[in-house]
Amino acid sequence: GGWWDHVKPAPKDPIVGVTEAFLADPAPNKINLGVGAYRDDDGKPVVLQCVRDAEAKIAGSDFLESISASVSSKLVEESLALAYGKDSNVIIREGRFAGVQTLSGTGACRLFAEFQKRCYPESRIYLSDPTWSNHHNIWRDANVPRRTFHYYHPDTKGLNFVALMNDIKNAPDSSFFLLHPCAHNPTGVDPTEEQWREISYQFKVKNHFPFFDMAYQGFASGDLDIDAKTLRIFLEDGHSVGCAQSFAKNMGLYGHRVGCLRQANILELCLYSEGVLCSNKKQAVAVKSQLQQIARAMYSSPPVHGLLLVSTILSNSDIKSVWVRELKVMASRIKKNRSALRDSLEKLGSPFNWEHITNQVGVFCFSGLTPDQVDQLAKEFHVYMTRDGRISMAGVTSGNVNYLANAIHQVTC
Ligand code: PLP
Repeated sequence: GGWWDHVKPAPKDPIVGVTEAFLADPAPNKINLGVGAYRDDDGKPVVLQCVRDAEAKIAGSDFLESISASVSSKLVEESLALAYGKDSNVIIREGRFAGVQTLSGTGACRLFAEFQKRCYPESRIYLSDPTWSNHHNIWRDANVPRRTFHYYHPDTKGLNFVALMNDIKNAPDSSFFLLHPCAHNPTGVDPTEEQWREISYQFKVKNHFPFFDMAYQGFASGDLDIDAKTLRIFLEDGHSVGCAQSFAKNMGLYGHRVGCLRQANILELCLYSEGVLCSNKKQAVAVKSQLQQIARAMYSSPPVHGLLLVSTILSNSDIKSVWVRELKVMASRIKKNRSALRDSLEKLGSPFNWEHITNQVGVFCFSGLTPDQVDQLAKEFHVYMTRDGRISMAGVTSGNVNYLANAIHQVTC
């Protein structure tokens, strides 16, 4: 008998499955709106100039352990500054944070989930309905029970703020919540600043712990500081927060493009606290040592090449300003695509309201297309997206937007 005869194939990941179907389609005019990776107006992956500049700078570096450790702690500080702005100076000076470099945003979430389980074995995690599907996998595999809270309203294709606030109030005191600080995946729906302030206030009342998954800083508004506003509001209000920061999207450091960037998915998990968690340096040191111990057993240490790239971009003011400019270009291309898609649908005389295409922000548009319509788009028009109707706006180009609008028009009318 075979050792693994009882092993059944795992269900296909909804996002990976879309890419597979897209690749298998021989049609020349096919469109992939599945993955959230940024593409240029020719639909091609982009290596940012800031990354090329950083590569040139680090060429020939010795990838020594000693370098890695000091650069890694510098990276954590630079990332902290990116997230918390000028307030991060005080946090760094007083050592009131525990941050470690992680394996991209996914690794940061996983590390936090393990840490949560270790320190609060009875706790659960509240996830928005809907959320990035991998959040469910990550906390499931860490054996943390999951609950959902209301977020998206299918009728308005916007935020269900009343139900969201009720769920925050009705959750047991001191619950863990996962929040997307900007450019919510998959809906593209973010609370307004005023609503975030109310959420933050209610979190204080209930003593909930906010864990932020910031995978798209800069992609909602094109501005790093504006997109970090949510975190800064919680900081001002004196919360203990956790934050997963990924540079995979905003620096274009996915895994699968250029050989030397293969392992460049760098991220950072930063637990910072004004109040409960790391109210002092001693606490921060203890938390960091636990995070390092968990990481040690899972993958020992993260890759150095990506670390050097990101830290070079963040610490060199010339390269950083190149990055800031490129980020604006990427965000505004996506914004333009939103208007173009909506205009095109309206010009076709679509009887439906498509305002949400331009109201939603970030890489994704939660279109409202039904699973059947999504299937029909793939079969008849070679247009691929996840069955929840999520469109990656990065896959829309000036060359395919009219074709796409027509296809959507055909399947909705
Ligand atoms: N979190 C969210 C909300 C995401 O959308 C993604 C990527 O799709 C990630 C985390 C993980 O990104 P990565 O592991 O590539 O940094």
